[in-house]
Amino acid sequence: MANNQFLKENPYYSKTDKTKLDIPNTEWKTILNSELYNVAREAGTERPHTGVYNNFDDLGEYYCAVCGNHLFRSDAKFSSSCGWPSFFEADAEGTKYERDTAFGWERVEVLCKRCDSHLGHVFDDGPKPTGKRYCMNSVSLEFVADTESKD
Ligand SMILES: [Zn+2]
Repeated sequence: MANNQFLKENPYYSKTDKTKLDIPNTEWKTILNSELYNVAREAGTERPHTGVYNNFDDLGEYYCAVCGNHLFRSDAKFSSSCGWPSFFEADAEGTKYERDTAFGWERVEVLCKRCDSHLGHVFDDGPKPTGKRYCMNSVSLEFVADTESKD
């Protein structure tokens, strides 16, 4: 898959290495394109209904677009009208959570456990069995179809 989200070779990107990354934003800024940098490192939000994975239901795995960490399986994706790709379950090994009160009300921010990049938010109005709705930015995700190799 073409890594056109990167301005140059990303030495931290790996689908197998789970080592925690602690990379300053000054360095990420030289690696990530501006759209990914804004969402992943500045907690930006892509415009609704614009993301490539919003209306998308191919079978495969979703990885962190910044570092390659595994985040979601397509089985947990569901069709939501919110305008962003939505999942009812995340890979517990791949994600972590923080309280976010940035807009004056409380939300739960979802971050990549490996590189601390912002992915989106999780809400309690999702479908069964979890009741969760992981509302993600397509920009933060990299999809690998089951038919592709996972190296
Ligand atoms: Zn990551």
